[in-house]
Amino acid sequence: MGSYEVVIGLEVHAQLLTQSKMFCACGTTFGLPANTQTCPVCLGMPGTLPVINHKAVEMAIRTGLALNCRIRSGNRFARKNYFYPDLPKGYQISQYEAPICESGWVEINGAGAQKKIRIRRAHLEEDAGKNLHDGGTDGSRVDLNRAGTPLLEIVTEPDMRSADEVVTYLKMLRDTLMYLEVCDGNMEQGSLRCEPNLSLRPVGTTELGTKVELKNINSFKFVKDALEYEIKRQTKVLSQSGRIQQETRLWDVEKGETAVMRSKEDAHDYRYFPDPDLVPLSISEEWIEELRKTVPELPVARQKRFVTEYGLPEYDAGVLTAEKPLADYFEACVKLYDQPKTMSNWVMGELLRELNNAGTDAAASPVSPERLVSLLKLVDGRTISLKVARDIFPELYASGKTPEQIVQEKGLTQVSDETTLGKIIDEVITKNPQQVAQYRGGKETVFGFFVGHVMKASGGKANPGKVNELLKKKLAG
Ligand code: ADP
Ligand code: MG
Ligand code: ZN
Repeated sequence: MGSYEVVIGLEVHAQLLTQSKMFCACGTTFGLPANTQTCPVCLGMPGTLPVINHKAVEMAIRTGLALNCRIRSGNRFARKNYFYPDLPKGYQISQYEAPICESGWVEINGAGAQKKIRIRRAHLEEDAGKNLHDGGTDGSRVDLNRAGTPLLEIVTEPDMRSADEVVTYLKMLRDTLMYLEVCDGNMEQGSLRCEPNLSLRPVGTTELGTKVELKNINSFKFVKDALEYEIKRQTKVLSQSGRIQQETRLWDVEKGETAVMRSKEDAHDYRYFPDPDLVPLSISEEWIEELRKTVPELPVARQKRFVTEYGLPEYDAGVLTAEKPLADYFEACVKLYDQPKTMSNWVMGELLRELNNAGTDAAASPVSPERLVSLLKLVDGRTISLKVARDIFPELYASGKTPEQIVQEKGLTQVSDETTLGKIIDEVITKNPQQVAQYRGGKETVFGFFVGHVMKASGGKANPGKVNELLKKKLAG
């Protein structure tokens, strides 16, 4: 089998988080009863006129700036003509020769190194409705609530070389859109949809091979599975001297394979032309500069800063910065408690576990940064042991009580009193004569065994420093 290089470019559709649709005042809330968010404009009634949603344009510009794109000053919208029941006008309003954002780039953490992925363009368009095939005997129906929802389509150059790179890029893009608060990033519900284009070429050549576009991929896992399947399929075809057909293929989750949906249409099939109902959209330098100020520090930059400023491992920095609320939470904690690695362990461990269980993010955490820090200070002040602190965290999260309250109510204050600890230690020593003999015979590693038993016997409340000190004395005697 000859060896091939994998070449992948991505088209991503992001639903913009505007309150109203792209060209009318209808709402964009997901999951409402069918056809309740519609009006003559998005139903495609003759004689109605579209009006451009200013907020959607701002979100597109901010995203373009975050992706290092050039923002076009003179924009046109175009009609992309095709017939389908979920498209009542018979055309989709999109952008063709004049996309709002062009020629950008982003950096991803590739296999051990940074890699640039070029962004070809990002353009504004409107979403279609949804056909529902659940009608039983009376056929299919259509829900037009989604019709006219603003979309930003973000297209890369064919710069990715593996399924893993695609997943890394997509995660980064999703994090970025969520940081910008322009998209909720929900792949299952379809607010973020990804269509990879994949081709192979003999290693060492530069000409692009024939590509296949993949659809129906609504999770990161499916992105990887579908691409890996398709790489194998194309490799097999090519190494048997076959030819790849340019086509769109659907990922079939059940079968774990891709199947032809349609042979690929060309742009000229859509008879694009400028929409005569919409005036050209001009964007001033001043507007762009105003919006530039609202672009927050983005995940990749923030991750790098977490490594340099707080001395965190790459891994911690990656987990903490993937979502803006979590990164904000962590930074609020570190301001109050200047031990970044300890803080990172708590936020990534105890806190994130509870947040994931509750299906919420750090902005909604019932444990405020102040409260988490006061828990850690109880440990530092030796009021409670680290183990007790970890054990009571779920209650801290669920009850809304302060750490001090919980410690007091449950009598969890750390025991440092020598008489009480001495009694526990004596018992442990009496019960384990064999280990005592070993220790006294020079096997010092047994010491940990005693510490463990004493801690356990005290319900985790014994002061470990004191336990060490007393144990050494008693074992020596
Ligand atoms: P189409 O008009 O079919 O949508 P485009 O040229 O607009 O095709 O490209 C769509 C996406 O496919 C882009 O992300 C681009 O980088 C990628 N792409 C184009 N040609 C190839 C190829 N031969 N192999 C892999 N990806 C490709
Ligand atoms: Mg395409
Ligand atoms: Zn409408």
